[in-house]
Amino acid sequence: MLDIARRFRVDNISPLDITEEILQGIKQDPLNAYITVDETGARNAAKEAEEEIRQGSDNLLLGVPVAIKDNICTKGVSTTCASNILSNFVPTYDAHVVEKLKNSGVVIVGKTNMDEFAMGSTTTTSKIGPTKNPWDITKTPGGSSGGSAAAVAADLCAASLGSDTGGSIRQPASFCGITGLKPTYGSVSRFGLVAFASSLDQIGPMARSARDVAILYNAVKGYDPKDSTSVAMKYQPTSLDGLDMRGIRVGVPGAFFGEGLSTDVEKAVKDGISVFKELGAEIVDIDLAYIRYGVAVYYIVATAEASSNLARYDGVRYGLRGNNADDLIDMYIDTRSSGFNIEVKRRIMLGTYGLSAGYYDQYYRKASQVRTLIIQDFAKAFEVCDIIIGPTTPTPAFGLYEMIDDPLSLYLLDIYTIPANLTGLPALSIPCGFTKEGLPIGMQLMAPAFREDILLGAGISFQDHTRFHEKRPQWNMM
Ligand code: GLN
Repeated sequence: MLDIARRFRVDNISPLDITEEILQGIKQDPLNAYITVDETGARNAAKEAEEEIRQGSDNLLLGVPVAIKDNICTKGVSTTCASNILSNFVPTYDAHVVEKLKNSGVVIVGKTNMDEFAMGSTTTTSKIGPTKNPWDITKTPGGSSGGSAAAVAADLCAASLGSDTGGSIRQPASFCGITGLKPTYGSVSRFGLVAFASSLDQIGPMARSARDVAILYNAVKGYDPKDSTSVAMKYQPTSLDGLDMRGIRVGVPGAFFGEGLSTDVEKAVKDGISVFKELGAEIVDIDLAYIRYGVAVYYIVATAEASSNLARYDGVRYGLRGNNADDLIDMYIDTRSSGFNIEVKRRIMLGTYGLSAGYYDQYYRKASQVRTLIIQDFAKAFEVCDIIIGPTTPTPAFGLYEMIDDPLSLYLLDIYTIPANLTGLPALSIPCGFTKEGLPIGMQLMAPAFREDILLGAGISFQDHTRFHEKRPQWNMM
């Protein structure tokens, strides 16, 4: 992103040329990263940006091609959540973040592929078929923001927005060798984000480097009265200078390095932690006793909230309407049976069960109580450290359909990313190495609420001393 901003000014390249290059790339894209491309909107925005650059504007976002996950509303451009049930839905308004990005002069090139309703970790449950990993097209790019991650990694945009309910920005960022931020809950407005699990959902930026992520985060964060959970406070722009790591206490939870962690990932993350040590950080062991319940808590809370949020797709107000019906109830049944895929149906059923009279106390209430214990665990840990570091995922990218018949094992792979959503804390995934086969590995950094400055500052310092984030997948060079 920063390099494109420089090319516009130093090499006199026009945003229109870059936009055409990107649109051409998307036409030939073998990865299936996009669901919808907005050629006209992109060209118009590029023309406006060109004019402003000519007039000497130093706004770094001007003319930069950005992609938006297809669960974030874009006025006049279809927003499908990769679902049949929303296949004909064209929002009449922009999400708050989209409005902010348009005001910053970016070129929105299109909407990216995802798991249907952001439920998944593979981008294989989309109605348009899977997105492939640019590092190895037989592998998943991760999910649910797999399109947003693959598009950045394959240079089909300079940066993108994703959404993260249990890891959907960080896990695909890690699988695709890019940088992704799940911001503090309440710091980026969810207005215009199609709700999955409202107490966990958060929109965030994805780009090659932590500096680019910081630029995009500065552009989208801030109070929005249209989102009742948006936090009203003064938001300072995050610095693009690296953080001086001397004296910074890095907490390493033993629980993040247990059973199930691949040896390649373990080694790369431990090497990454050593880089911080060499930069002057102090490493401390921390104990997070309750995170072992994280996955169980998440799949109760997330499915409960999803079952309630998805009740609105009844064939009356939005999108698809089943017409194979004699009466109203039949119409609901037909709409929802044909509109949702199997994973979404599974979650609606699980969530309805967990909330039902008689089971509420056993499941939803108990999960909420354990969620509080996890929040307290992190609060205690941050008394003795400034930042927590561990792996983003237990394994590198796996085969596209390898886990399709085993949803439970797939859920368990969210173990490291889920705590940030349950606690609302910010978390960043940055590239920290490669497997022997050449697949990228990600490292996760977590910080106290609203301390994205520490998180991004540490990420920038790491990337100023390493080259992992600069490596590009081979297919792009062929
Ligand atoms: N993989 C998690 C899930 O399937 C996370 C999804 C997300 O963050 N949107 O629910």
